[in-house]
Amino acid sequence: MALPHPRPWTDPTLAVEDRVSALLAEMTLAELVGQLHQPANVDHDRDAELLAAGGIGSTLHASGATAGNVRDDGVSRDRVDDLQRAAIGASRLGIPLLIARDVIHGHRTVFPIPLGLAASFDEELAFAVAERAALEAAADGITWTFAPMVDLVEDARWGRVAESIGEAPLLTSRLGAAMVRGFQASRRLTACAKHYVGYGLSRGGRDYATADVGETTLRNQHLRPFRAAVEAGVGTVMAAFCDVDGIPMHSHRHLLRAVLKDEWGFDGVVVADWNGIGELVEHGVAADLRDAARQAIEAGVDVDMVSGAYSAHLAELVEEGVVERALVEDAARRVLRLKIRLGLLDPGCAALPGGGDLAGSRGLGLDRELARRAATGAIVVLKDDGVLPVRPSADDLPVLLTGAFATERAALMGTWVLDGHADDVVAVAPAVRTALAATVGSAVADRLVVDPGGFPDRSLRRAREAGTTIALVGEHSWRSGEDSAVSDIGLPPGQLEQLRALAGVAERLVVVVLAGRPLALGEVLALADAVVLAWHPGTEAGTAIADVLVGGVAAGGRLPMSLPRSSGHLPLSHAERPSGRPLPDGPRGGRYIDSPAAPVLPFGAGTSRLTYGPLRTTTAGVPVDGGTVEVSLTVTNDGADDVREPVLLMMRDEVAEVTRPLRELVDVAIVEVAAGASAEVRFALPTTAFGYHGRDHTFRVDPGRVVLTAGWGRPEASSVPITLT
Ligand code: BGC
Repeated sequence: MALPHPRPWTDPTLAVEDRVSALLAEMTLAELVGQLHQPANVDHDRDAELLAAGGIGSTLHASGATAGNVRDDGVSRDRVDDLQRAAIGASRLGIPLLIARDVIHGHRTVFPIPLGLAASFDEELAFAVAERAALEAAADGITWTFAPMVDLVEDARWGRVAESIGEAPLLTSRLGAAMVRGFQASRRLTACAKHYVGYGLSRGGRDYATADVGETTLRNQHLRPFRAAVEAGVGTVMAAFCDVDGIPMHSHRHLLRAVLKDEWGFDGVVVADWNGIGELVEHGVAADLRDAARQAIEAGVDVDMVSGAYSAHLAELVEEGVVERALVEDAARRVLRLKIRLGLLDPGCAALPGGGDLAGSRGLGLDRELARRAATGAIVVLKDDGVLPVRPSADDLPVLLTGAFATERAALMGTWVLDGHADDVVAVAPAVRTALAATVGSAVADRLVVDPGGFPDRSLRRAREAGTTIALVGEHSWRSGEDSAVSDIGLPPGQLEQLRALAGVAERLVVVVLAGRPLALGEVLALADAVVLAWHPGTEAGTAIADVLVGGVAAGGRLPMSLPRSSGHLPLSHAERPSGRPLPDGPRGGRYIDSPAAPVLPFGAGTSRLTYGPLRTTTAGVPVDGGTVEVSLTVTNDGADDVREPVLLMMRDEVAEVTRPLRELVDVAIVEVAAGASAEVRFALPTTAFGYHGRDHTFRVDPGRVVLTAGWGRPEASSVPITLT
């Protein structure tokens, strides 16, 4: 096709594919390979020569300092502008860079860790948080975030569960897709679904370990959130560090090329994880970096994050006829397509120097209101024996707040905070004091005793005198996240002993747990009158905790991962599949002789202020092809506060071609019920919601019976059978 424009790829009136083709036709092999090279922390000065040669397509972190891949000295629009000038102004074709960063749960405003956000079960909230994070990141010139992480998790020892959306395929699919849409809403930033695939099965919860999983389980569970992200239009997908059934994901041609790209039609970019191509050598499947480059490009990894394998070897591999040029062209096409879709090749692009204000995002302050809403929505009240909210009367004083987290701020931000500042975080003690003053008056607030020094003897003496003791325990931010696996899933050393001592003397004990993972809290639940799991809540940590402890806000959070009894009970999931052995008491699928197999609290648990009526249906028989299953229930709020919380619907497919979970989350409804009111909760499910991948791995929906359950794990749980015909 004749394209009249001198640089047709910069003409926004042309079709994206025509623009890409026109640009590709101009490019040398070295320039094609350049688009696939992603070094870290590129510097406009130090790397000027390579930038001018078109030898770099993207960079991550975009900062001047390097200290591993998680710490740097921040990112700014000025620094990014310098980089883009060096890439555009000095190079022959003037192609801008993609500027990538791990914007995982907020940028300047820090929202709760993803696992906390997952506890809200709230897609709208997930969208809003991602949209806001993207806006703040875009203001710093960032065009690519390495989020959301949609790896399904079953082992709380794994540090990266903090970055996950929990154990349920449906929840991870829905919230992950919502985050993708939120991150990409402005069209100025692309999201990245990671880590494809199986990383959440890291053996023993040890990071970077192997994962053993077959294709049926991959398709029925672990691939689902990635598929949902692709359907939501995610621009990029990151390969996982692990090997799956002996094949490292960075060389997994079947899963990357055949499934993700060919079967699902993903036309975006597959990016390697940090040195993931280089690690093919450590995995022992590649002899050297050149061999690793060949295997990765053949498998379908488009962009090489930091290993340098592509930059060093791809051109030569093509010239020697070892690697087909078409593979390199296809990878470059994907990168350029993404850049064009992001508007980076349009004249006057707002993300580039001189491009002006990105969607009004410059000079943005913190979004404290959204941070508070998200942090409150994340909180799960695991137990409340009628002690919340804490509203002490005159003879109930003082209130003691004890534990180092009472005045800590950095500790409450969570893993992967690159651009948030601890100074912006609201600590718990001042927030609780403010909330007490607002609810019961400053005379009471003045009698709040704050003792952040751990639990020395002084705390015990004070607890003896106090009407209510609030103890803050759990994990510091650094104790979860990448490469932060623990072998002991209990509270960090010493804390349980301290709680035992406090429980022995306190009149009323409220325990607040800060954590990046579901810890084994069985004994804590027995010791305390109330237990509040706040995860790592972010910028508005203190405010959100005070809202729930004192303000009377009904925390609507539910566990997105089962709460384990001990390290020995892991891995764990509500969606266990039946084994052949029926057990008389409790779930099938194995038991221990020294302890119950069931979790302390299951997926979906959390105190609720609603009473559930029985589940009903009008559609007992539904045609498999195109039918809709409708079920409903009435929920009643007998309390004095308005409630917003998720109602979960579980399913069991009783007979199928492959083993199916004993229960699995199949739908969620967020309900808002005013104090004293009732609401109808209606679920309408297409029959595909009951489908699965069978023995030949294709998707199918079988006729037969499925059982739907509302209120699973609660005393009022009720089920209805549905027949698909
Ligand atoms: C992590 C990724 C992250 C990348 C870039 C890797 O170590 O596994 O999740 O996006 O580093 O920082």
